[in-house]
Amino acid sequence: MIIVLLGPPGSGKGTQAKMLTAKIGITHISMGDILRDAVAKKTPIGVEAEGYLAAGKLVPDSVTIKITGDRIKQPDCVNGFLLDGFPRTMQQAEALAHLLAEEKRGIDKVVYVSVPLELVVERLTGRLSCPKDGSVYHVKYNPPKIGNKCDVCGGELVSRKDDQKEVISNRFTVYEKQTKPLIDYYRAQGKLFKVDGSRSPEMVFEEIKKLVS
Ligand code: AMP
Repeated sequence: MIIVLLGPPGSGKGTQAKMLTAKIGITHISMGDILRDAVAKKTPIGVEAEGYLAAGKLVPDSVTIKITGDRIKQPDCVNGFLLDGFPRTMQQAEALAHLLAEEKRGIDKVVYVSVPLELVVERLTGRLSCPKDGSVYHVKYNPPKIGNKCDVCGGELVSRKDDQKEVISNRFTVYEKQTKPLIDYYRAQGKLFKVDGSRSPEMVFEEIKKLVS
């Protein structure tokens, strides 16, 4: 099963991706996590990507397409995978279709997590992330149990640089212009399934589970 998760920043894609891949046993590929890891390790891709991430802009298509092409050929993708944060432009979507066609595969379902703008801003400005294991919290809706520490690994939680107010608005503009057109693109292919992401993570998950089963 090959699934794509689409949605604006703060729609809860990452949380749903983790829950779903754990449940159905397919590989979770988060482009944002891959890029943040590359930045932290100062790899050549990380050095190139850093400024884009900090400004809330998209990393060039050539970079993310190459990353995806390499990643989906790995053995852990043989039984299926879920793409979280890719594609984000029409060019990426077309490249993905080609990459999959080369292997005689195709996307089974695209899940679009829809959330109103006001809610997204509140979610992102209150989001806390663990740089060590990627766990995500929220100061109001899902606070860590002890102080500012990750419940899972004890790591010190941070607010992502691109979760600051000025950068959030850039990320939104980018989403509206570049990523939103993918909704119609996949709808026209009969692959799009829309879910209301403004509810609790558990309720959204219940619906997504039914959609992909
Ligand atoms: P995310 O964690 O999905 O919100 O992604 C964080 C940042 O990584 C984005 O704001 C972009 O700078 C970069 N990024 C993630 N996915 C892509 C993509 N498919 N194409 C270009 N840039 C991306």
